[in-house]
Amino acid sequence: LFSAVEMAPRDPILGLNEAFNADTRPHKVNLGVGVYYSEAGRIPLLKAVELAEKTRAEAHAPRGYLPIEGVGTYDSAVQKLLFGADSEIIKSGRCVTSQAIGGTGALKIGADYLKRLLPDAVVAISDPSWQNHRALFEAAGFPVQNYRYYDAARQGVDLEGMLEDLRQLPRQSIIVLHACCHNPTGVDLSIEQWQAVLKVLQECEHVPFLDIAYQGFAEGIYEDAAAVRLFADSGMPFFVSSSFSKSFSLYGERVGALSIVADSAEEAGRVMSQLKLVIRTNYSNPPTHGATVVGLVLNTPELNALWQKELGEMRERIQLMRKLMVEQLAAKGAKRDFSFVAEQRGMFSYSGLTKEQVDRLRDEFAIYAVSSGRICVAALNLNNIDAVTDAIVQVL
Ligand code: PMP
Repeated sequence: LFSAVEMAPRDPILGLNEAFNADTRPHKVNLGVGVYYSEAGRIPLLKAVELAEKTRAEAHAPRGYLPIEGVGTYDSAVQKLLFGADSEIIKSGRCVTSQAIGGTGALKIGADYLKRLLPDAVVAISDPSWQNHRALFEAAGFPVQNYRYYDAARQGVDLEGMLEDLRQLPRQSIIVLHACCHNPTGVDLSIEQWQAVLKVLQECEHVPFLDIAYQGFAEGIYEDAAAVRLFADSGMPFFVSSSFSKSFSLYGERVGALSIVADSAEEAGRVMSQLKLVIRTNYSNPPTHGATVVGLVLNTPELNALWQKELGEMRERIQLMRKLMVEQLAAKGAKRDFSFVAEQRGMFSYSGLTKEQVDRLRDEFAIYAVSSGRICVAALNLNNIDAVTDAIVQVL
């Protein structure tokens, strides 16, 4: 049965982690990861999460099956986080939200549902994008193209190229957009650029699929959802996948959500009935723990305030690392201007390092980064940043 099965290629980032774990050099640093590490170099357990977990444990709640769309109070809290509590979208009931198995699960059920809705559509993702975007939509049966996004020469967005590519796609293409903290580049659209993109999407009747996996890591919870609110105000239908893996530091609990905005509550109800069919045949219904905890934090004012404070600390620590990295590289005489690193947003930076330079960082200095030059700024701390900037200066 299995004699002709070929070995699938390793996931490059997970492969990098394996190599890092096997490295015995004590001063090794892993900048290849996609997680936030505290100043102490650990994945934090947020205090707000700990308190909500305690409440939940003390309640001795039975663990029956959840409805297909998950914890209702969690789903409604997700909508408030995206659109704001007073939003017309929430009042009119034209948005439906389902809990999902992380942000990845939200993209997956969204992609599977879209395949039923628009079987012949083309999907377009940014160049570059989070690798799994292409894989997920291809696995759902769509052809996936790139639209121009990152302009390496300017370390910014190639807006003209992006708009041109979006215009050239067939009508009703599905456009995957990073709502904030673009992974891997750290380069986001300004609000004016978002407006220009929205206009083209409307003209072409494309279907926006906003992916928001780092809400709160750029400027703040509210600020980082500006693009989502822009689409909400536009009146056009769209999809949003949310992930709380990073913002709640709950990676392994798989807490995400898919929200779909329709023209009316009645239409949204029909859409949800179809989405439930997709979920039912994927995993039947989601797990209880993570979403219950996140729902408790979001819906309890004191816990919500504590969470926002803790998220703010994570954001500020990343910003400090960006600033220190720029300052140290300049002070150490780096042959290149790295000031753009401080302008990038979220956990990642497209550092501009080449594959050869990344290889040298690993082989000579035990510093691991993705071969594209993506580094996780959230893995830097006061103990390792000096060694990292020393090494970068050496390999340039
Ligand atoms: N979208 C983007 C842009 C991401 O970077 C990630 C996580 N790396 C996800 C979605 C998936 O998040 P999750 O871990 O919650 O599945």
